[in-house]
Order: sequence, then C-alpha cells, then structure tokens
Amino acid sequence: MTIHKTSDSSAGPALAGQLARAYATTAPTAALGPLSIPRRNTGPRDVRLQILYCGVCHSDLHTARNEWKNTVYPCVPGHEIVGRVTDVGRDVTRFKPGDLAAVGCMVGSCGTCPSCREGLEQYCENALALTYNTPDAETGAVTYGGYSESIVVNEHFTLRVPAGLDPAATAPLLCAGITTYSPLKHWQVGPGQTVGIVGLGGLGHMGVKFAHALGAHVVLFTTSAGKVADGKRLGADEVVVTTSGDEMTRRARTFDFILDCVSAQHDINAYINLLKRDGTLTLVGAPEDPLPTAAFGLIMGRRRFAGSGIGGIKETQEMLDFCAAKGITADIERIDIQQINQAYDRLLKSNVKYRFVIDMASLDRDPR
Ligand code: NAP
Ligand code: ZN
Repeated sequence: MTIHKTSDSSAGPALAGQLARAYATTAPTAALGPLSIPRRNTGPRDVRLQILYCGVCHSDLHTARNEWKNTVYPCVPGHEIVGRVTDVGRDVTRFKPGDLAAVGCMVGSCGTCPSCREGLEQYCENALALTYNTPDAETGAVTYGGYSESIVVNEHFTLRVPAGLDPAATAPLLCAGITTYSPLKHWQVGPGQTVGIVGLGGLGHMGVKFAHALGAHVVLFTTSAGKVADGKRLGADEVVVTTSGDEMTRRARTFDFILDCVSAQHDINAYINLLKRDGTLTLVGAPEDPLPTAAFGLIMGRRRFAGSGIGGIKETQEMLDFCAAKGITADIERIDIQQINQAYDRLLKSNVKYRFVIDMASLDRDPR
C-alpha cells in the first residue's frame, strides 16, 4: 500500500497514523478533488484495507452537496468498499493480510444498547459511527469514506467477501444490496406476493434482483421508458412506466409490499394507493425534502408506511453469503476516480446502469 507522506493539503489535525490519498469535496457546490486524509494506526482490533473498489451511492451525492444539512467539510464519501487486508491488529481473529474484505455504511456503534445487542447496529441508540461524515474521536475530524486508497476499521464492522464473487460488482452490495435485502426479509417477501420496486437505480436494481430471488411476483415502477427491457432482464415480471396514469389506476389495491428506492421528490400517495388492505410501503430512498402523505390513503385499508435503514452486520454477512449462493452481484459501470464529478452528474439524470464503481487503482494516475 502506498502512503502519501505530504502534509500540506491534509484534512484534520495531526494524529498518530498515516496520510492516505483520497478524493474529497470542500463545499456543497465544489467538485471533488484529491486530498490527503489521516488514517489511524492499526489498533489491536483493527483491520487495515487497501481499497480496491468503492461503489458510488446516491447518499454520497446527497452528503457531498449537503442536501441532508449535516455535512462537515472536507467530506470524503464512499461506503461500498471492497479491499485487500494489508494489516491486522493483534486481537483480530477473522482476517489476515491478503484476505479480500469489505466495509459498508457503518464503522462503529456502542455495542451495548438494545439495537446493538440484537445485531441491528444501524439503529444504535448511542454511538452510531457511519463510514463517513460522523465525528471521529480518534482523529478529531469526521470519518472519511471509501474514495480513498485505504481505510482502518474495527474487525466487527469488517465483512468477509465470499469466494467466487467478483470484487468490483460486490462493492455495491455493501449499501445498495443490504439496504434492499433487509426490508425484503423483514417484511417476509416471498412466493405468492406481489411486490413493487420503485426506481431502477443502484438500490432499485438490487431490490428487483432480491425480490425475484425470494420468489415474489415483481413489478418495477420506473420513470425511464428506456429501462423496461433491463428491468425484465434483472428479474421484474412486469415493468410499469409511471408516466402512464391509467396503468397506476388499474393496479390500485393489488400490492402486498412496495419498496420505494427513489432519491428525489415524487408522489408517495400514488404508491400507497396501490397497496392491498394491510399492505406496507417501505421507504429506503431519502430525498432532501419531506414527502407529503394523504391521511385517507393510509386510513382506508389500514395500510402502513414504513422506513428501513441499511442492515445490521450479521445480516450484511448473510446477504453476501446469499449473493454467493445465488450468483447475485450488482450491474456496474467501472470508472476512474478522476471521473467522479461526471458520474455524479449522470446519477442525477438517472443515467447509470446500475451502479458506478470506482477502480481505486486509478488514484495512481494523479500527480504525486
Ligand atoms: P440512484 O442510483 O440515483 O437511483 C435513484 C432512482 O430513482 C433513479 O434511477 C430513478 O429511477 C428514480 N428517480 C430519480 N429521480 C426521480 C424523480 N424525480 N421521480 C421519480 N423517480 C426518480 O440512487 P440510489 O443510490 O439507488 O439511492 C436511492 C435513494 O436511497 C437515495 O436517496 C439514497 O440516499 C437512499 N439510500 C438510503 C439508504 C437507507 O439506508 N435507507 C441506503 C442507501 C441509499 P427510474 O429511472 O427507474 O425512475
Ligand atoms: Zn449508500
């Protein structure tokens, strides 16, 4: 692993550790560009990865542009990480140098609250540390994500990459994969059910693959007429282009479960009206602004409107193993880190098939 030794452009205060090359943004409207960031020394329970691939999630873009109003700059996004273990602390038992390993959206939690004790670290009630943009006690800055050459993570938050999975196409499983797998499992999606997936982006395309693999009748809802054939290839039994109002009316009260994976403002009530009595619409998409909900859509039919956040570590490993058993990975477009700003522009236009993944070796193309 190459460690960048310069300190002139580094982010955050000095610490016992090393500087790593990364891509960061410094303001909501700024482009991403090179920055050296601190990475701590490998602690007794830490795993150090040389990052090989990092997926590009729409959450990266929401955060880089401060759409959720909580971004601390400089910001290094990236929480779909696959890498090679280069170093482990003395108490680490599950990883050794040379292993392929992965890191998703979380790097820490309290470990003792009811959610942590149930393996639902993503709902930690005290000290959830996300992979980027969370205060980092060790560095005095915030956590920095996967658009970087390396990362140091507690063993508990490091995942095994099962043999046989393509490393680049596995990276998006660490967020897009688990974020769709977890609610489909929680709401017990399976044979005999009609399940809607809304939005064919990074999350949505994994939602279609998983709902199909779990045996449901899958209906994809898309605003993009050009994605119909892909939707079917990925596992949808039917595809509805939502610009057709008639199609939406015809399907009222026919869905057991709908997973909404949309990143922008849209009419949620149109989907609530598609649910059967006692059906559930679960939001995983996290648009910048609130989504107004009409009371009677929920009241008439005792329908439920729910949310779901990523998935716990145990379930993330289960999802990776499920993918290995079923031969499921993401459909990806590989990019170099230098193309990240154009990738964000395309993400905003719903124009990615269906996840950008950064080949981190491209960092070497930047001047030292
Ligand atoms: P993405 O790849 O950009 O996909 C979003 C899709 O939404 C687009 O491909 C498009 O699909 C549809 N869409 C976009 N604008 C729309 C509009 N104005 N009206 C209707 N549909 C629209 O994004 P992603 O990475 O999958 O992330 C999706 C959302 O999930 C983001 O808000 C992200 O922050 C959030 N997220 C949440 C969690 C969680 O834990 N809950 C985890 C990760 C991400 P079509 O072209 O098919 O219409
Ligand atoms: Zn994500």
